[in-house]
Amino acid sequence: MIIIKSAREIELMREAGQVVAEVFKALEPLVVPGITTKELAKKAEEVIRSFGAYPTFKNYNGFPGAICTSVNDVLVHGIPSGQKLKEGDIVSLDVGATLNGYNGDACRTYLVGKVSKEAADLVRVTEECFFEGIKFAKPGNHLGDISNAIQEHAEKHGYSVPRDYTGHGIGRSLHEDPSIPNYGEKGHGVLLKEGMCLAIEPIIHQGRKETRLMKDNWTAKTIDGKLASHYENTIVITKDGCEILTMLTNKEDNVKNG
Ligand code: MG
Repeated sequence: MIIIKSAREIELMREAGQVVAEVFKALEPLVVPGITTKELAKKAEEVIRSFGAYPTFKNYNGFPGAICTSVNDVLVHGIPSGQKLKEGDIVSLDVGATLNGYNGDACRTYLVGKVSKEAADLVRVTEECFFEGIKFAKPGNHLGDISNAIQEHAEKHGYSVPRDYTGHGIGRSLHEDPSIPNYGEKGHGVLLKEGMCLAIEPIIHQGRKETRLMKDNWTAKTIDGKLASHYENTIVITKDGCEILTMLTNKEDNVKNG
């Protein structure tokens, strides 16, 4: 069942989303060679708690970290550890914050020092996939329009889209209906309506689309050891489009959005 959010609930989602955005602002300058993923998670948790929020992923179905830290061929759900980031790595930081009972969920993939052109291109195209997708995020369109735009943009650049992990509705629960694949057909799937809150999250592979789950039952890697990139925001469908809830807003943006 898809839960349509009221104006009051959307305001609470916005507040949770802003906490997530603040985490990225704090983490971005720290992503340099030599830092461990555990140190990044510790900082993320400090920032989240400084806003009176809770790190959503901590203990979620038993997940052991405050955030997910996925390096290179790990596509999602990497567990923060003593692993030091190296020059040339890419690392995705997936952050959830729960504030006043509502959740924000977003992910960024960062370049560690100087990376190969191939790695930088993958990260850039993954972010582009999100923005291509949300061009279709408005009432009257179908979920498949978003999914299809993501898939087309990724495949146009020679990348593949894993089938095993998807975006999702979000609200009082981290994962609500609908599930949002990063592949699909135009005109198919759920009809989008004002007040739906969705976590749109392209996960894109440099090589084959297949994945494998590690023994810890969380860490998911690409089957061929090639790179994966992940970019996500929580959005809300508005009257005539959508609003991104997990990017920092300033006064000027607020005026522009009316
Ligand atoms: Mg998500």
